Amino acid sequence: MTGNGPIVGVLALQGDAREHRRALACCGMRSTLVRRPEELAEVDALILPGGESTTMSRLLVAFDLMEPLRARLAEGMPAYGSCAGMILLGREVIDGRPDQRQLAALDVVVRRNAFGRQVDSFETDLDFAGVPGAPVRAVFIRAPWVERAGSGVEVLARVPDVPAAGSAAGRIVAVRQRCVLATAFHPELTGDWRVHRLFGEMVRQCSGDRVQWRPGERTRVSVASEKEQV
Ligand code: GLN
Repeated sequence: MTGNGPIVGVLALQGDAREHRRALACCGMRSTLVRRPEELAEVDALILPGGESTTMSRLLVAFDLMEPLRARLAEGMPAYGSCAGMILLGREVIDGRPDQRQLAALDVVVRRNAFGRQVDSFETDLDFAGVPGAPVRAVFIRAPWVERAGSGVEVLARVPDVPAAGSAAGRIVAVRQRCVLATAFHPELTGDWRVHRLFGEMVRQCSGDRVQWRPGERTRVSVASEKEQV
């Protein structure tokens, strides 16, 4: 990794971390894998990939990452969760396992495996607020949807409200709350990096408020505390 821009961690306990790193590289963003608390402490933002949210929840506890990650998110660390990552970021899950734990960084209730068995995996085109140009091709794999979103949550994409979508019609599948982004689908699998680019902009904006980058240094400097020192 070269340069001194923000470093995006990709949680690599389970799931498709490699594809997210490739997407970040294609957007010119620095990234690193995160498996341990020391690695989490070094990153400026985090992607939680798709995979299996119940397994990831268990591994976050086993690797002593659950509490440090909750703390970083509460401090305002930018994060993006795709599919299982969206489930983990929500405050509540419907149809989760009883021991599944939530990071509660997004004020949403997420329904796990919401699209049902018949439509386990499918693709569709979505209008995505904040992503200019053509609709985004969305790949859903045993995906969740957002059942309810709090008033502070911006809805960025919904399943098209057409009869063919059945019970999924109009369901929320992409959201943003402050510096946290989540999609029920997998933009890392399509070769269209516009959603990752949007996240990159969020990382720069959200980090810019609190962090000042110093060439050649990896020290996090709070702009507020620097002002206080003057
Ligand atoms: N169904 C999975 C879960 O519950 C999510 C699937 C995915 O990430 N593609 O976590």
